[in-house]
Amino acid sequence: MKLRTHIAFGLFFGILFYYFLGFGFDFVLLTGISAFIPDIDWAMQFEWEMGNKHRKFGHNIWFMFICAFTGYFIFNSVLLFFGIIIGFLSHLIADSFTVMGVWWLYPYGFDEKKFYHNYKYSMTGESQKGYETIFQGILFGIAGFMFLSRGISINLFSLEGIITVGVLVFVGYIVMKKIDVMLAKTIRNSGL
Ligand SMILES: [Zn+2]
Repeated sequence: MKLRTHIAFGLFFGILFYYFLGFGFDFVLLTGISAFIPDIDWAMQFEWEMGNKHRKFGHNIWFMFICAFTGYFIFNSVLLFFGIIIGFLSHLIADSFTVMGVWWLYPYGFDEKKFYHNYKYSMTGESQKGYETIFQGILFGIAGFMFLSRGISINLFSLEGIITVGVLVFVGYIVMKKIDVMLAKTIRNSGL
């Protein structure tokens, strides 16, 4: 799964907290950035040549808690702690739908495939590449609408209300896509 799809999923998870629980937009950015963390093991294996690490070293809840507690103790921030947890979970959930799957408690249960979750979606084939873009677009549209419409009451049974929803989805889509691109660039520029 692509970096930008993971960030889109992380932003979407963060927006749910923003919309329903009143979290700030800083939390959304945290979940978006944190959604990338598990794929550090991809870089370890394929860029830094540290051996067979992908979907093992970083894709489990132990590494998630290590990262979250490290963030908490360095910056003394509960928000950072939860942001890392939620972003991280969004990544593991998304990868669990792929063919390769996730060993959630790795290395526990690795040999007998316990706590292993996978599904049939492949994101690597040439024919599936379009799906990932569509999936990103849907997430941007929904998350963007929720971002812009929090606190606004919209009457869906009026023409004005329907137009408002359309505009908010459209503008929200653009805003979320920009944020996604910006976060992806930041991560890539940091050498990961
Ligand atoms: Zn991954």
